[in-house]
Amino acid sequence: MKVFKFGGASVKDANGVKNVATVLKSEGFDGCMLIVSAMGKTTNELEIVIEKYINKENFNVEIALIKEKHVQICSELFEKNHSAFSELDGIFDKIEHFFRENNSTDYNFIYDQIVSFGEIISSKILSLYLNVAGFKNEYLDAKNFIKTDSNFRDGIVNWIETEERIATLNKTQNFVTQGFIGSDLNANTTTLGREGSDYSAAIFAYCLNAEALTIWKDVPGVMTGDPRKFEDTTLLSNISYEEAIEMAYYGASIIHPKTLQPLKQKNIPFFVKSFLKPSEKGTKVSVSEINLKEETYILKENQHLIHISTKDFSFIAENHISLIFNILSKLKIKVSLMQNSAISLALCFDDPFKNKNFLIDELQEQFRLEKIENVSLFTVRNTNLTNIEKFYKNKDILLEQISRGTLQIVAK
Ligand code: ASP
Ligand code: MG
Repeated sequence: MKVFKFGGASVKDANGVKNVATVLKSEGFDGCMLIVSAMGKTTNELEIVIEKYINKENFNVEIALIKEKHVQICSELFEKNHSAFSELDGIFDKIEHFFRENNSTDYNFIYDQIVSFGEIISSKILSLYLNVAGFKNEYLDAKNFIKTDSNFRDGIVNWIETEERIATLNKTQNFVTQGFIGSDLNANTTTLGREGSDYSAAIFAYCLNAEALTIWKDVPGVMTGDPRKFEDTTLLSNISYEEAIEMAYYGASIIHPKTLQPLKQKNIPFFVKSFLKPSEKGTKVSVSEINLKEETYILKENQHLIHISTKDFSFIAENHISLIFNILSKLKIKVSLMQNSAISLALCFDDPFKNKNFLIDELQEQFRLEKIENVSLFTVRNTNLTNIEKFYKNKDILLEQISRGTLQIVAK
């Protein structure tokens, strides 16, 4: 089987949905598992609804707008009396039902039950549309296949359960299903973390022993840097899993960090290609002995920097570091760069679950802190340091680190 993943940007409107059919026409649709994200910015829109629900504010307008957007897309894809419209009504009834009946106050639980509807809607529309357009497929509820623990918003996959369930699928068929979502052993919906659809695609690819996974993007493939952020970027046609893992580690947003491990374990080739130019080669990530020579540039924004030192100016020692990392791990804060000096530990970190203030409160009980919010982390890989002045220009450099051909700068 082949696994294809289409992200939110590729299905942001009716033309995007129609374009999926164009891609399938060019690629063939025969034993294909198609994974789709929520349309456009639907996930963010649902997050606002959840926020308002939690704060006991009225969110009727926001829900109505989300519904209207999808109805509009359907009206450009289907005849007036097509079942897509009643399916959509049914899905929005379920959302309403949840809000009416819910007694849980667990934010993460509520978040997953609601945010997952973005993918449920998009996959339903896409599946129905492709059937109309002659690409026969079966709609699959990913919640019945991807099983996780009950760690809402960041579910950990139960591989044994998941493999067993996916193994029951008929591999000669075509399927359309959701990225990002799964369910726990109590059948509550869970999600795999923001941007997790790529990871879903990799999970399906792994469990299906797929011949390849292709992620369809609005860029030609993996570039030497994000073309929206850096000048003079070029396409990388072939890279190794290790190279891609490192790029993801440093924050190249084109590759979701969890996607590569399952693929690498089974040597499943991974393609990143343009949904606008499906016949172009894009990037192939696979087993490769070739070491990348090109400098690659990665920008990670919305990072925060703290300098931690002891209140009595003693050295930062192992016991301090262990305590600090326990707090970080508990709050699911991800360190993107650290630097140790005699009396201070500098940490640049990502705060996906907005726990920064808890971190600061806890650390301040024991340490002195200096904090700088909203910094950027620049990483240049494979650099010989000859061509890097441009990274220092017009920046207020807060921290710098060079190791083994990798330059990292934290700047404001
Ligand atoms: N729709 C989800 C998000 O925006 C998952 C994804 O797009 O991969 O985070
Ligand atoms: Mg998305």
